[in-house]
Amino acid sequence: MSQPKSTAKSLPIAPPSDGLSPNVAALLAQAHASESLAVGLALAEQAFNLATTQNNQRDRAASSHLLCYALYRTGALARVITLGEIALPWLREESMTDAYVEVLRWIGFCACDTGDFANAIKYATECFNFAELYGDQRSRILAFCLLGACFERTGDPWQGERLLQQGLAVARALGENYPLVATLNNLAVVLTGKFYLLRDSALSMEAIDSLNASLPLAREVAERVPLLNDPYFLIFSEGNLGEILVHLGQLEEAETLLNRSLTAALAQGFHSVVSRVRCSIAEMHLARGENPAARQLLIELLANPATTQNASTLLRAYYGLYLAYRADGESSQALLALENFRRIESQRTLQQLKARSDLMVTRLEASENERKGLERAYGIVKAHESRAVALERLALEDELTGLGNRRALDLNLPGMLEAAALNRTPLAVMVLDLDHFKRVNDAFGHAIGDKVLVQIAQIVGEQTRPNDLVTRTGGEEFVLVLPGTNHQDAFDVCERLRLRVSDFPWSSLAPNLAVTVSAGIASAPAYVAATLLERADLAMYRAKKAGRNRVAVAPATDATQLS
Ligand code: GH3
Ligand code: MG
Ligand code: MG
Repeated sequence: MSQPKSTAKSLPIAPPSDGLSPNVAALLAQAHASESLAVGLALAEQAFNLATTQNNQRDRAASSHLLCYALYRTGALARVITLGEIALPWLREESMTDAYVEVLRWIGFCACDTGDFANAIKYATECFNFAELYGDQRSRILAFCLLGACFERTGDPWQGERLLQQGLAVARALGENYPLVATLNNLAVVLTGKFYLLRDSALSMEAIDSLNASLPLAREVAERVPLLNDPYFLIFSEGNLGEILVHLGQLEEAETLLNRSLTAALAQGFHSVVSRVRCSIAEMHLARGENPAARQLLIELLANPATTQNASTLLRAYYGLYLAYRADGESSQALLALENFRRIESQRTLQQLKARSDLMVTRLEASENERKGLERAYGIVKAHESRAVALERLALEDELTGLGNRRALDLNLPGMLEAAALNRTPLAVMVLDLDHFKRVNDAFGHAIGDKVLVQIAQIVGEQTRPNDLVTRTGGEEFVLVLPGTNHQDAFDVCERLRLRVSDFPWSSLAPNLAVTVSAGIASAPAYVAATLLERADLAMYRAKKAGRNRVAVAPATDATQLS
């Protein structure tokens, strides 16, 4: 992909220009056009000061919006919140809806990062309300992102991941680059957070899975981010991708990304990114066995007050230091670092517990109206079961088995293919059809037939991964989409599935009942939904013809000759 020409602005969101006083409009335009964040910030500040002396609410709304943006990027979290709270009513009254939702995002993430979860959830609730009122999908996506981040920060990355997956589905359906990139990025960060949370525990396998799951997301971000022409996002996302690659041991690529991200973050003054990237660079040295370099960087990092503001970087730094000392056989220093790590971890756990308990109290004490709002956000599942969402979900769900239905397949497959094409990763599609199912119905009755379908769905669910799409597309036909899986691996999965079905003790449902399936597999490239399904279908019919209870693989198309 060709990189867009470098007209990168440090504040890429353009301020509105209509209805502003000329002097304020001019300052805002200059701030927006500036290539340095420090200059942009100073100009936005100037515009805001000027606006407060003039009797035009639109001036105040526009300048507080841009100033919030600049402050957010410099990492001045507390000020973003104070100013944002002031700006929201102005923006609403001026019907500047895009800017309104943006300010909600910034203050929401700031509240989340400073541990003020009650407020973060309040802002997320407002996003949901706004989304419903105006049918605005962007703010719905944002609400999912914000809630997902809140849950991850309160120590529950599982819930965070679930919410962000929901947000991602909406973002893919909407198809706009910015909300999609933001959601992918947030999900990758939550999954990386889960890795850090679990890597030192009995769940270390889940930690690695989580890291592996974050990689394709971060790669998709990296592919899409140049289109945004936004240096902050570019630097941030390169840092994230580099961080993931370090822990996956892909050090060469990681090094390039991390060095580039660090240099640019320093040059642009994106302080919040700097410590995080430095920590990743130290971890890279560690992975290479360059312990003195790792130690030196980590000690510097730990002496820097900017690091200590962020609990997760702080934890990573102490953990890295522990590993470095341990590798050098300096056990007393190693123990000291580990003690620091454990101390901060337990402090954080306590804070997380307190945050959750505070949320409960807030919920109890809130006035009726506020409580309704909070409940909607807090009782997550309920919150998202607004009528429209519930209907939407039902419309995508197969009633009998709870799997996705044909519509879910049609809706999701193109996006999954697009992602696979972007990352040049394989993707396999399987069509499964029960053998002589008509005879099962005829011999055992329709009710037993239904139970068989439910049991098959259960087996399929057990044999697939969370990222696979599993659907029942017709009466006794199932279609599975396996991202990141080539046809050989897909064949193995499918064979295992076929055996699980034929070996299942079906006589527990009805004496003498036996069930088998035939399956066809096709894999991308080429990344075209219709042809992929058709090839898998044809393969499935070949399996039937060849005697049923078997798996057939579609021949590769020309485009399938992987280079
Ligand atoms: P083949 O091996 O060639 O696929 O034979 P088959 O009998 O499975 O295929 P056919 O397409 O002739 O019949 C499919 C049968 O699936 C017809 C219908 O009785 C049954 N069926 C479709 N949907 C349902 C359902 O929701 N519940 C039950 N119990 N049976 C269903
Ligand atoms: Mg059949
Ligand atoms: Mg059939």
